[in-house]
Amino acid sequence: MGLVCLIIFCGSFMFVVSNFHRGAVKTVSLHWPTLPQPNHSTKPQMPSVLVQPDKSTLPKPAEPIKQPSCAERACVALTFDDGPAAATEPLLNHLATRHVHATFFVLGMYVERQAPIMRRMVSEGHQVGNHTWDHYRLRDFSPAVITSEVQRTNDIVQQVTGVRPTIMRPPYGETNLTIMSISGLPQILWSIDTEDWRDRNSGVIAQRVINSASSGAIILLHDIYPTSVDAVPAIIDGLRAKGLEPVTIDELLDKPTEVREYRHR
Ligand SMILES: [Zn+2]
Repeated sequence: MGLVCLIIFCGSFMFVVSNFHRGAVKTVSLHWPTLPQPNHSTKPQMPSVLVQPDKSTLPKPAEPIKQPSCAERACVALTFDDGPAAATEPLLNHLATRHVHATFFVLGMYVERQAPIMRRMVSEGHQVGNHTWDHYRLRDFSPAVITSEVQRTNDIVQQVTGVRPTIMRPPYGETNLTIMSISGLPQILWSIDTEDWRDRNSGVIAQRVINSASSGAIILLHDIYPTSVDAVPAIIDGLRAKGLEPVTIDELLDKPTEVREYRHR
């Protein structure tokens, strides 16, 4: 074996040296005997028909949970105005615990300072609507101010969350043709006013909502009052006990686009 290697080595070396002198070889490489290759003819052949596993024994892939639409079940919309505020975060916790999506009509002036809460709101499936920048009574202001109040709010919500509002709630529920045409947005009012700004009592607010709610209702609450936020678990449980499922405005009204007033489904 040693002698064979020596002959091969010397043969290769002499070949390289002779070519090197003719200037034909730029790199020196040695040639070793090639190793025996596997014989492919001995490779086991796969059967032409593969045996399929019994599909009935395999776990089924999880199907996305498809909720029936509000045309098929009784829904109400929970809406929260004037935030985002300190109480918005505990409110998001209540909604997450009960798998409920709500609609937040936010004031543009608070959006940037509450950016993480705004992003959480959107990422958890809630809807964000425009409630203007300063909460002015828009009917008392010029078209230029109305334009600024609406557009600045839409811009900051889009900048912070990546989603531009497609609905608006005018402050105090006061709208008119000028506000509608300038905003170009459906005006979402309400059918149940909880008057939670006056009654800072969670039990009273929860009972008021549950007693007055019926299919298609739009319920007005404010997430700037901790008492209103504290009422939310009882509100959701009470609505569900009546067969009413809380949803967003887009779900309740099937993504409204017509620029007019909406008070309920
Ligand atoms: Zn308001």
